[in-house]
Amino acid sequence: MSDIIVPSPADFHVHLRQEKMAKLVTPHVRQGGFSLAYVMPNLKPPVTTTEQALKYKAELEAIDPGVEYLMTLYLTPDLTPEEIVRAKEAGIAGVKSYPRGVTTNSDSGIESYEMYYPVFEAMERVDMVLNLHGEIPSDAKTNTHILNAELKFLTHLHSLHKAFPRLRIVLEHATTRAAVEAVKACGPTVACTITAHHLELTVDDWAGQSFNYCKPVAKYPDDREALRDVIREGHPRFFLGSDSAPHPYDSKSTSTPTQGCAAGVYTSPILLPLVTHLLESFDALDKLEGFVSTFGRRFYRRELNAENTQKIVLRKVGPHVITGKYGVDEHTVVPFWAGKEISWKIVTN
Ligand SMILES: [Zn+2]
Repeated sequence: MSDIIVPSPADFHVHLRQEKMAKLVTPHVRQGGFSLAYVMPNLKPPVTTTEQALKYKAELEAIDPGVEYLMTLYLTPDLTPEEIVRAKEAGIAGVKSYPRGVTTNSDSGIESYEMYYPVFEAMERVDMVLNLHGEIPSDAKTNTHILNAELKFLTHLHSLHKAFPRLRIVLEHATTRAAVEAVKACGPTVACTITAHHLELTVDDWAGQSFNYCKPVAKYPDDREALRDVIREGHPRFFLGSDSAPHPYDSKSTSTPTQGCAAGVYTSPILLPLVTHLLESFDALDKLEGFVSTFGRRFYRRELNAENTQKIVLRKVGPHVITGKYGVDEHTVVPFWAGKEISWKIVTN
């Protein structure tokens, strides 16, 4: 019998949506083996205040109180240092920066973070985490596109880290060798999340296959190798953030001449067995606990003690097929690798 016991797995980047979709996907966090969810703020409208974040947290707790939800605010020009202090006091863990909708520096066509420096100063002072979606918007004039958007963002990571060396920063869902190397070159306050699907996909897998399409897009085989390598190495500043992002079946499966399909890969309900399967596939099974539990918890200061540890048992039961879809009607979601086989299952939860 091959059992693996993982203490309280934590997903440090997940989209739990709102209303009916939230009701469908929030219970999948625990179904997938996880007891902590770091919740993204990109709702409609986005979560930009402490009050909104606390209300959203209460909604998620009403759906499943068995998960610890760490909340985030969406970085906008309206966010003030005073609001950061309020957010910190209310237990909000971080602020998420997205590339779109951010004021751009017109002469270079890239994001300017300088207008946010007073907010970052406050975050550094009260010790809140800055979560970066590390891509710059596509721009034909500068030959910026979805394959080099992450690479071109890395100079911003370095300048932010230089300006705020004590600010804890997480580069989210890294997809490139360059990003891995950039984070490694930073000090102990800079970490990086890696998704499950980017450990498997490359460009060839999403071109023409909408269910594998997400942002940032999966890159080249050598980039994927760098992600696998840093996990095999057991680097403590690289940990799981699934970026599990449910979209209704119709918006994932259908593109029209005027509308592309939605970007996002959904992994929550199968997350821990999937990560285990993938790590085993590239000889990193011994790094599972660090990658899904210890490293992220340490960075976020959410370490385990005897009382709050929940032991999740994984068993290698042999190949079984991943469920094809969850939900009904317009709220149907299809998980990553639907119809494919994996070998691991959670046997107690
Ligand atoms: Zn995301």
